[in-house]
Amino acid sequence: MSFSAEVKKELSSLEIISPCCRHAEAYGMLITGRSFSLSSVSISTENAMVAELYSKIVSQECNIAAEPPEIRGRKLIVSFKKLSDRRKILDSFGHLPPEPTLRINRANIGNECCFQAFLRGAFLSCGAVTEPKKNYHLEFVIPYLKLSDDFFFLMDELGLGPKRVVRKGVYIIYFKDSEKIEDVLTIMGATNSTLELMGVKIKKNIINRVNRRVNFETANIDRSVEAGMAQVKAIKKIQRKSGLDSLSPNLKVTAELRLENPQASLNELEELHGFSVSRSGINHRLTRLLKIADELNGKKI
Ligand SMILES: [Zn+2]
Repeated sequence: MSFSAEVKKELSSLEIISPCCRHAEAYGMLITGRSFSLSSVSISTENAMVAELYSKIVSQECNIAAEPPEIRGRKLIVSFKKLSDRRKILDSFGHLPPEPTLRINRANIGNECCFQAFLRGAFLSCGAVTEPKKNYHLEFVIPYLKLSDDFFFLMDELGLGPKRVVRKGVYIIYFKDSEKIEDVLTIMGATNSTLELMGVKIKKNIINRVNRRVNFETANIDRSVEAGMAQVKAIKKIQRKSGLDSLSPNLKVTAELRLENPQASLNELEELHGFSVSRSGINHRLTRLLKIADELNGKKI
């Protein structure tokens, strides 16, 4: 099941007790459905639970008979076929007489609790959220400009900070920020889905941190291997030009150990020296060897 379907399953299973919120939820589903006018009131969805809820909640709210979903390809359509039913629906939500442009009638979202229910209804009808493992995106697809304006300002008033874009002639109100998506899911009542999203986010963060750490360590290893190679090159040059016996006994020991162990780290060299000298002491000697080799430049064999 996709994450979007999971969220919708969770939202449509919530038990709404207060009548004001049931009304607001039904309104959210209706106004963002496929059609909401005297000539057609319908929803088109791929989700069977959403189709059933739409039929149930609208019929109960408006005291009319429920309409069974019809299958059309991958879609389920619920359509109120009787004109008298559609008139009752529009009347119940204060949309009679029919208006030239569809706007949100705020009288249907009376109390603060009802905002949540309204948003939930709208998401069930026209919303989608991508798999958090892939990326963070939650959207409401609204077919009409004025309606999308009303939606946008309503969400803005809730402090959700939505974004908007026009895609293929429809108006999209969306969220990209994972925290805002968590807020929207929580407001709608999708507590489990919010927790799931947070879990995925935490996992992603851990993986990123581990990867950064591995990259950092790899870079360090690369650097120490490179340094070892430069030291070996310098020691070989000293060997060739003036012989290792030309070095002080301490430097000679370190030079020989480095030649035999070109890739050893400072820790390993410390051990190879039998801990007779510290890491920084070894580092100092190696730097000294590089300097000596450098000074040999120009000297003839
Ligand atoms: Zn309410």
